Amino acid sequence: MPLLAPYVASRSAEQPVLRSELKIEFAPGGPRLVYRKPRPEDRDHHGNLWVRMDESADGRVQYGLMHVRRQRICMENMLCQVCGGPAGRDRDGWLFLDWRRPDSPPTWPERSITSMPPLCAEHARVSVRQCPFLRRAEYAVLRVRKPRLYGVSGTLYQLTATGWHTSDSNVLSAYGEPRLPGMLASRLHRELP
Ligand SMILES: [Zn+2]
Repeated sequence: MPLLAPYVASRSAEQPVLRSELKIEFAPGGPRLVYRKPRPEDRDHHGNLWVRMDESADGRVQYGLMHVRRQRICMENMLCQVCGGPAGRDRDGWLFLDWRRPDSPPTWPERSITSMPPLCAEHARVSVRQCPFLRRAEYAVLRVRKPRLYGVSGTLYQLTATGWHTSDSNVLSAYGEPRLPGMLASRLHRELP
């Protein structure tokens, strides 16, 4: 069977915004990250600033790299990450595939916080057969009654004594905690309770 091109996967022609399009604004509430030319859709309901990313059907499929906007659409609207159609749901809950990561809680797969959107029934089956990540990891096919929106993750810009620095790895920012004004979000997360 040929490999699918998942809806959430980015293409090599789809590039994130250049860092030069960002600036720090010294607002009354303190410094915060903004775009030089702001658009209303740059921020979510919680006020987090999001990465802008090109959209193109050209280039090769980058299986390990999700497109920022498509990941967010799938996670927000509970759409299948492979086909973009409605995710699978029955009386036991929504269909997710999750695998154990170094930062997974000891209760895994319970209380896992994931950026992998749900799947429809057909693509959950296909993913288990095809996904190279699943071959290397301990994974679980889950039915989740209430996968609640948890927060965003992305690059954190921080003002230090030597100027602005960006975090080396993705920082998770929960909706239940104060928003980070230096956050440039690239993933929407749900908790799988
Ligand atoms: Zn699907």
